[in-house]
Amino acid sequence: MKLVFTGIGAAYYPQLGSNCAFFVHNNHLFLIDCGESTFGKMAARKEIYDYERITILLTHLHMDHIGSLGSFLSFCKNILKKKVRVIAEEDTIVHILSMCGIPSESYEFTTNFQECEKDGLFITPYRAVHVTDMLCCGFTLSDGTNTIFFSGDTSVLSHEILEQFLSGKIQIMYHECSFLEQDSPSHTSLEKLKQWIPEQARNRVYCMHFGGDYKEAVKACGFQIPNVV
Ligand SMILES: [Zn+2]
Ligand SMILES: [Zn+2]
Repeated sequence: MKLVFTGIGAAYYPQLGSNCAFFVHNNHLFLIDCGESTFGKMAARKEIYDYERITILLTHLHMDHIGSLGSFLSFCKNILKKKVRVIAEEDTIVHILSMCGIPSESYEFTTNFQECEKDGLFITPYRAVHVTDMLCCGFTLSDGTNTIFFSGDTSVLSHEILEQFLSGKIQIMYHECSFLEQDSPSHTSLEKLKQWIPEQARNRVYCMHFGGDYKEAVKACGFQIPNVV
């Protein structure tokens, strides 16, 4: 199970596009987040037209993660005649969308990530340590054979996830890397990732959510950069 990214930029580095990924599982399109640039990127591609079933998994409510969600949902409902499913840990997004003219009847909403198990996709949310005024989560995503971890915006990598990754139970990790060196209570730096991830395991870690064009520095440390379309 490999993610395709439409952007790998952080909120203040829109030059790399809003950090968002998608994948197809059992003929079902899944998106992780829908930031400011995401709808434009997806509308110019074929997946949202080709797949009848679309689910958007939300990590949290910052605009670089939900900024084009309203337009995405209304386009799918009004133009493509598809009801998209949105899954988030809590229902604040429903209120935000309704104030933006997207009524809750125009999409499906649930806080239960386990609904995806009907489609053979096992999603476990993990608490991210990001900001104090909203929840943020990362996820493990498993198709029963492969398991990946997507960090969301976070300043901490839990011991549990790191252990699962180092033991091979999680094969691939997508981790945010907003800064090169800056120590932050909200985000992770390349410096921290180097301390957490031993060199021999770094080729299984894709860095994302860049606050600048750090791609060469990230690659020089042995980490990977996702493919961006
Ligand atoms: Zn962000
Ligand atoms: Zn954020």
